[in-house]
Amino acid sequence: MASNPGRHMKEVLLNTVFPNRCVLCDDWISREKMICNSCEKTVTYINAQKRCLNCGHEKKYCVCLMNVYHFSGCVAPFFNDGDIRRALIELKYGKRLPAVRFFAEQIADSVKKEYVNIPFHAVCFAPTTQRSKNERGYDQAELLAKFVAKELHLPLLQALCRKTKKTAKNQHELSRKERFDSIRGAFVSKRSLNNQTVLLIDDIMTTGASLDEAARTLLFAGAREVYAAVVAITPFLEKEEKDGDDRGDRHRH
Ligand SMILES: [Zn+2]
Ligand SMILES: [Zn+2]
Repeated sequence: MASNPGRHMKEVLLNTVFPNRCVLCDDWISREKMICNSCEKTVTYINAQKRCLNCGHEKKYCVCLMNVYHFSGCVAPFFNDGDIRRALIELKYGKRLPAVRFFAEQIADSVKKEYVNIPFHAVCFAPTTQRSKNERGYDQAELLAKFVAKELHLPLLQALCRKTKKTAKNQHELSRKERFDSIRGAFVSKRSLNNQTVLLIDDIMTTGASLDEAARTLLFAGAREVYAAVVAITPFLEKEEKDGDDRGDRHRH
C-alpha cells in the first residue's frame, strides 16, 4: 500500500466520507472489512469437519436418526448464538440490513467449500408470508438468497410462496413433531423446476421442518435435488434439554 500513495489517499478519503461500521456491532472499522476484530473473535463459526453433511448439525447434535429430510444436505457458516443470533433477530425486524451481505458471503463460502462438484442450476429460498413481507417491507430469506445467488453467479428463482396459516402457538413453543406437522402444506410452488439442482436458502435452521417442507415442495415441482444453506444452525437437542429444564415457565421464552 505504501508503494501506492494514490490508492492510500483514496482509501483515507473513502474512510472519511463513507466510514464503515461493523455489520454486527456498529463499531468503526476499515472499509474493506465487514466485521470488527472483537466480533471476529466472538462469533462461532461451525467447523465443517465436525458437521454431519446430511442434516447440517454438528455430528454430536446429528438428527439424522430422527428425520429423513427431503433436502440432500445442509451447510451453515455459524451457530445461532451470541452476536449472530442477535443480528439475525434484528434483521428479522428491520434492523441490521447491512449484515445481509456479510451473511450471504459467508453462506457462499460454505457452499463453495462443502458442496464441491455439485452442479447447482439456481438459488431458491423459503419465503415468509406475503403479509409479513408487506409488514416488514422485505423478506430476509429472499434478501439473503439474492446476495448468495450474486456471489455464486447463479440465477435466483422465485419458486415458492408461503400460505398464511393460522398456528395456535408460536413456533418456539412447539415440539419437534408439532413443528413438522404445523408447516406441512405451507409452501406452494410457483413454477416447474425441470430437473434442476437447487440451492435452498434460509436464515436459521433449528429442527429443519420449514427447510424440509420447502425442499419437499421444490422436489414436487420437479427439482432433481435440493441442498440447503443457512446463516446459522441452532442445535435443537440442546434446546430440548434446556426447554425440559424450565418447562414450567415456557411462556417467558
Ligand atoms: Zn463488531
Ligand atoms: Zn445428521
